[in-house]
This record gives sequence, C-alpha cells and structure tokens, in this order.
Amino acid sequence: MAGPVKTEAVVLRSMRYGEADRILQLYTPDRGRLSAIAKGVRRARSRFGGRLEPFFRLRIELHEGRSELLTVTGAQTVDGYARLRGDAPALDAAARACDAVGRLFETSEPHPGVFNLLCRELALLDEQAAGQRAPLGWRGALAFRLKLLLAAGLAPQLAVCASCGEHEHLVGFSGAAGGVVCAACEAGSFPLGEDAYRFMTEALGRALTEVPEASDPALGQVERAIAATLEHHAHVRLMPAAARV
Ligand SMILES: [Zn+2]
Repeated sequence: MAGPVKTEAVVLRSMRYGEADRILQLYTPDRGRLSAIAKGVRRARSRFGGRLEPFFRLRIELHEGRSELLTVTGAQTVDGYARLRGDAPALDAAARACDAVGRLFETSEPHPGVFNLLCRELALLDEQAAGQRAPLGWRGALAFRLKLLLAAGLAPQLAVCASCGEHEHLVGFSGAAGGVVCAACEAGSFPLGEDAYRFMTEALGRALTEVPEASDPALGQVERAIAATLEHHAHVRLMPAAARV
C-alpha cells in the first residue's frame, strides 16, 4: 500500500525528533492510529506552521513508503480548538482524552465512530474553555470513557448480573465478569451503588453534552468499574480520567 494517503486526523501526540523534525501520533477515521514524521516542521519557515501540535484536527496528506512511519506532505487545519489551549483544565482533559484513544485504539483498524467522538469531545472542551458551556470536569471525562468502551466493544453488562443473569439485587461490579453482579455472585467484585449504576446507564445512552449528575464517591466507583473492565478485557491501564484537585 505505497503511495499518497489523504485523510482527516487528530494529532494525539507530537514529539521532537532530531534537529527540526517531529514524530506525530495521529488518529484517523479510516486507518485508526498511525505514526508519521513531519520533516523540517520546527524551522521558522516551515509550510506546516504550528498546526502539527496535539489536538489539531487536520486534513492531512501523507506519503506511505516501506516504513511503518508515514511522511507528512501536506496539512490543512479543520479545527485548531484554539480556545482550549488557553485553559489549563480543558488542556489537561484534552490530553487525557487523546491518551485514552491512543491506548485503546492503537492499531490501524478503522473506528470512524471513535474519531467522531474524539472530535466532539475536543469541540466541547473548546466551548467550555470559552465559557459557552459549564465545564463537565470529572463526570464529563468518565462519560467520554464509557463511550470509548462502547466503541471498543467493551461496554459493561449493566442490565442483568454479568455472572448469572439475575435481574435484581445488583450490588457489585466485576471486571472479570464484565459488568454488574448480583448479591449471590459478588465474590471478587467491589460495591457499585445505585448512583454509580444510574450514571453508567444514563451516560452510555445520552449525548456527551448531557452528562448526568453524580456524587464524587459514585464517580469514583464508575472510574473503578471502567478501569477494571479495561484491565481484564483489553489489558490496558489508562491514566486517571481527570486531575484530582
Ligand atoms: Zn449473579
């Protein structure tokens, strides 16, 4: 598959390389995660300007040779999310969102839904940084992660006990079982309160802009449930969903 590649992409990471180059980790709708080198990008007169920085959404042209590393030959900005760059909490949330996507979807397998979800999350954080929306903080970050789990085919079983199918007395969460468990199956699980349960079911069914309310202890249980699911079923460990103050 050598030759030119044109695609949209979000820059997940951008690392200095050599004298003037950068290695980019990109997330694309149709080729998943890929790595590319941008040559001469750190020179003052680079034609790429400053747009090969993290969180930029680009229309990008790449050359694919024999190496796994593609070469950037052109890039236009679709959205730079300029406002989030001036806001420390939004910047931190964007970095965590991009890191989660890069770790969970690290292959070239296409997941256009994940690309759209990431762009939506970055746009939301940009609007929050501009004061157009109330910041969603920790619960917004967890809702985003739950939707990533769904896209990865790892959505936890929430309707019935993941172990025995019981409909009632769902009191715990088990990463190994892959969801909520009933009182009889709770060995090896941790407690999941009603608030956390409600948050998970509602957040999975709603838009990213309509994240349900929940107490901090409930959000702690949700984060633990997400982490347990990822560790057991994807062998991935993510950084905390939000910076703790
Ligand atoms: Zn059970």
